[in-house]
Amino acid sequence: MSHQARKRFGQNFLHDQDVIQRIVHAINPRPGQRLVEIGPGQGAITLPLLKACEKLEVIELDRDLVAPLGALAQGCGELVIHQSDAMRFDYSSLAEQEKIRIVGNLPYNISTPLIFHLMNYSSYIVDMHFMLQKELVDRMAAAPGGGDYGRLSVMIQYHCRVDPLFRVAPQAFQPVPKVDSAFVRLTPHAHPPVAVADYNCLVDLVRQAFSQRRKTLRNTLKPLLPVEDIESVGVNPAARAETLTLAQYAALANRLADRNRSLSEAAPP
Ligand code: SAM
Repeated sequence: MSHQARKRFGQNFLHDQDVIQRIVHAINPRPGQRLVEIGPGQGAITLPLLKACEKLEVIELDRDLVAPLGALAQGCGELVIHQSDAMRFDYSSLAEQEKIRIVGNLPYNISTPLIFHLMNYSSYIVDMHFMLQKELVDRMAAAPGGGDYGRLSVMIQYHCRVDPLFRVAPQAFQPVPKVDSAFVRLTPHAHPPVAVADYNCLVDLVRQAFSQRRKTLRNTLKPLLPVEDIESVGVNPAARAETLTLAQYAALANRLADRNRSLSEAAPP
């Protein structure tokens, strides 16, 4: 394909055959599975996936890539191209009969919001395999206590098991990006690892806790929970956001849900 890579679409095309083989091996596509690729680009992983699965749905924003992709796939299987924005796509529409497997060498400029968008569809998804900026994978997989642990780690780990698979050097792509990459598997939990009464309370609580990560919870959580409530679930108000486990965040979120309920019950009609 003679396509000029577009920066605004985060286009860094994979050309290293060794890396492509490792990706396909890690995904282990099988005939009959419902695979969906985000951002097929010039088809580096599209074609091997299509050959293995016989049918593949792809979501590509750049309309100039649609016709060449269709031509490339001739004779390799059934390629369904959605010329669409992956950030607005309704993934449940592809999972009517069966759950889907999602793969993608994602545009790095939109990876985080795109993954948060995909979390809304986790019940429709078997697994996700993504090429991402290595630093992002480190943050997703981080355990409490380190500098990499943050809002993304807590929220992703609530939804998914995170398995970093391998690192990929910048030279595997064209144009060569300025950052290292890593390939990761995200597997949505069949059941959440912690019980959360009101998901929105978890979202609010975690966002608030990490809004000023150097400060103590006593200070950062002040707009949501008084110190007594933090202590009542066994969390030290002098601790900082980056030291709390997912289970502790769930306990605080459930306390917040209780508090919101009693406040609304006490409010005059
Ligand atoms: N899969 C190809 C590869 O590995 O060589 C291309 C990867 S490139 C990093 C990212 C791809 O995502 C590009 O094809 C780009 O046009 C596409 N893309 C960018 N933003 C998108 C969006 N919002 N929705 C769907 N595709 C998008």
